Amino acid sequence: DEGIQREALVATLAAIADRIESEKDHLTDLDSAIGDADHGANLHRGFQAALDGADPDDDPAAFVKAAGMALLSKVGGASGPLYGGSLAVASSEFEEGITTESSVAFAEAYLEKVKDRGGASVGDKTMVDALTPAVHTYKRAIEVDDLDPLAALSKAVDATERGVRFTTPIRASKGRASYLGWRSVGHPDPGATSTLYLLEEIHDVAAE
Ligand code: ADP
Ligand code: MG
Ligand code: MG
Repeated sequence: DEGIQREALVATLAAIADRIESEKDHLTDLDSAIGDADHGANLHRGFQAALDGADPDDDPAAFVKAAGMALLSKVGGASGPLYGGSLAVASSEFEEGITTESSVAFAEAYLEKVKDRGGASVGDKTMVDALTPAVHTYKRAIEVDDLDPLAALSKAVDATERGVRFTTPIRASKGRASYLGWRSVGHPDPGATSTLYLLEEIHDVAAE
């Protein structure tokens, strides 16, 4: 019911903020290889602000929207508008509550918004390379294979992991890493990696 959904959302945001805190240095290392070494700090600042500003009494759409707005105003860089703006827009899919169906719509809206705003496609070595297999696998698992959301999330996490690995041997064509040209080859993309962490936390909280 609604109360349980609210608790789950608060727990998910807390778990993500915690995970980002513990991966902060790692994300910064990844970004120092092909960017400007701030992805860890950017996301840490953003998710801390989102958690601090979260109102547990908000309905699901308002809760997710507020988190998105906090990320939008605090993360900065390229990833702030992508993570935050897309979350804020996709949150409207939860206006009738969180259901299996609305979770698929949310995932699709989020991916569309990231692609819209950033203009990146699969193969450009960005978070889109992690997000696309995540969303496609989740949707298929629910709609074609008829799995429950937790089993679908588990498949999505596996697909995301493969998406992150896919970013390593390819050359960046979007974002800061693209300035490095061929020197970007051989490093995983920081934003794809943080996307995996988010997915893992969403899965782990759902499994509890
Ligand atoms: P900045 O590059 O401005 O310092 P961050 O370091 O916080 O911002 O985020 C970098 C990440 O943002 C990259 O690893 C990549 O995944 C993602 N990114 C950058 N540009 C784009 C884009 N145009 N579309 C999608 N993702 C992008
Ligand atoms: Mg950076
Ligand atoms: Mg930066």
